[in-house]
Amino acid sequence: MNTSHASCAASVLAAEAVVKRFGAHTVLNGVDLALGTGQSTCIIGPSGSGKTTLLRCMALLEAPSDGRVVMEGATVSQARPSSDVRLAARKVRPEIGMVFQQFNLWPHMTVLGNIIEAPMRVRGVSRDEAVVTAERLLQKVGMEAKRDAYPARLSGGQQQRVAIARALAMQPKILLFDEPTSALDPELRREVLQVMRTLALEGMTMLVVTHEMGFARRVASHVVFMDEGMIVEHGTPAAFFERPTTERAKRFLNQFD
Ligand code: ADP
Repeated sequence: MNTSHASCAASVLAAEAVVKRFGAHTVLNGVDLALGTGQSTCIIGPSGSGKTTLLRCMALLEAPSDGRVVMEGATVSQARPSSDVRLAARKVRPEIGMVFQQFNLWPHMTVLGNIIEAPMRVRGVSRDEAVVTAERLLQKVGMEAKRDAYPARLSGGQQQRVAIARALAMQPKILLFDEPTSALDPELRREVLQVMRTLALEGMTMLVVTHEMGFARRVASHVVFMDEGMIVEHGTPAAFFERPTTERAKRFLNQFD
């Protein structure tokens, strides 16, 4: 098992020595994580270990206090960014898709409206083209019948599937998920996990913060275990779940037995 994966050959997105402090509290303490093309990586670990903060740094929603985030070789985020870094960030931001725990759909727009908005506004896609793409994506997530519904009329699982379709509509190079099933009742989780599994099998590059050990074990190509702001283990699901090497990971996994 290797704990430093910053120099993976074909990485789409990478954190390099990322430190994040909130006031005096160091939440990320020098994290290296490279996400290879077509890989799906799950971040697991105890509450408060820095998983969401790492994801948000990689999504360019938080700036690191030190270290940097690199997308396809270009620095796109660092403390006190130069104008080149800001420019690079603006360029790549639409290529990084994000799915949140609370779905975050726009309540005043229909399902279709939610999906076509960003491609039209940000990518300059025509309405007709955006609608064709949205209909294809709604089919993919099994939501085509709800095209004209408003989010409030949908279950949490349905809203999350629409949120995934909305992220895909921007044709992202990578999709980041922040505990996408944590707000859902158990019976609704499965439908969301099934969509995510299909995406992973199709080769979408994904980073998923999750407490779904079954998903991490069966679907992820890599599992990252974090504790106290650091990556403590990083390996294949088989290696991590069957042969964790640290006491901290063993203790964490014992809770799920
Ligand atoms: P995890 O996702 O593993 O539960 P988080 O990344 O959400 O962990 O949080 C790690 C630590 O950082 C926690 O102690 C949390 O309180 C703190 N933290 C997260 N975001 C902020 C913030 N915006 N301001 C201050 N502290 C924060």
